[in-house]
Amino acid sequence: MKKIRKCESCGEYTLEEEHCGIKTLSAHPPKYNPNDKYAKYRRKEKGISNG
Ligand SMILES: [Zn+2]
Repeated sequence: MKKIRKCESCGEYTLEEEHCGIKTLSAHPPKYNPNDKYAKYRRKEKGISNG
């Protein structure tokens, strides 16, 4: 399934990777991933020395 993309040049929505001779951008950028928040904490835990 193709994702809808947007041309930055003319502002048109398209399914093509290119429009107006430039690369189009994803019109639906990935949403903020709540898991990232926890990944940060997990990384912190990893830094803790267990002695
Ligand atoms: Zn365009």
